[in-house]
Amino acid sequence: MKLRQLFLINNECYKIGKKHAVKGIMVHSTGANNPNIGRYVGPDDGLLNSSGNHWNQFRPNGRQVCVHAFIGKLKDGTIATYQTLPWDMVGWHSGSGAKGSANFMGYIGFEICEDNLTDRIYFNKVYKESVELCVYLCKEYKLNPITDIICHSEGYKQGIASNHADVMHWFPKYGKSMDTFRQDVKRELEKNNIQEEKNMDEKIYNTLDECPDYAKPTIKKLIDNKLLEGKLINGKPSGLNLTEQMLRLLVINDRAGLYK
Ligand SMILES: [Zn+2]
Repeated sequence: MKLRQLFLINNECYKIGKKHAVKGIMVHSTGANNPNIGRYVGPDDGLLNSSGNHWNQFRPNGRQVCVHAFIGKLKDGTIATYQTLPWDMVGWHSGSGAKGSANFMGYIGFEICEDNLTDRIYFNKVYKESVELCVYLCKEYKLNPITDIICHSEGYKQGIASNHADVMHWFPKYGKSMDTFRQDVKRELEKNNIQEEKNMDEKIYNTLDECPDYAKPTIKKLIDNKLLEGKLINGKPSGLNLTEQMLRLLVINDRAGLYK
């Protein structure tokens, strides 16, 4: 995910600045053929090529809309995510349905910029970017990807959003749905968590004594020959900072005769 930030500080929604506790995510798509983030986000930061009628404007009598992020194209054609509201600020994206409004129920809302809905390559890119954004948000706010992510059209069915078709008028054209989306977020989130646990489990060896016996002769040799000093803090050695993988590699190299 390429995440950048440009808050819509002139939008009335931002000016009111009501806070919420994040409870879920609502996925939207813009419903207009313009894949450029700059259509909606401005002023131009050099990457966007912003249009004159972006949403960072105070229009108290205009349409009351504001979302937390846009996913679409930059000026150079690459895909990015622009965060446009703090995640813990109430956005104006869902409208309301028979039972209320997701806006006031803790939903973060983001828009995927639509093109003309016939470009599979663009679709795959923004789908992936959206999955990554949701993984990030689920982690940050401890959300359950299966129960806490809906799209606008599902929100309407639940009675907490206005009657819009997004994103289920688009995803199924390419064999995707909100169910595949939620599963993809769940899978990526689990992968992410496993990787993090691995990183946390990784033991660091800081002294010769701490090293396992098989590695001690090699490490001693490297220290004696001043080939290994470890991490320097203010120019002074503060520990060898070796992982198990590094020990194994050094021992293999030693056996291969690289260290005299
Ligand atoms: Zn929508």
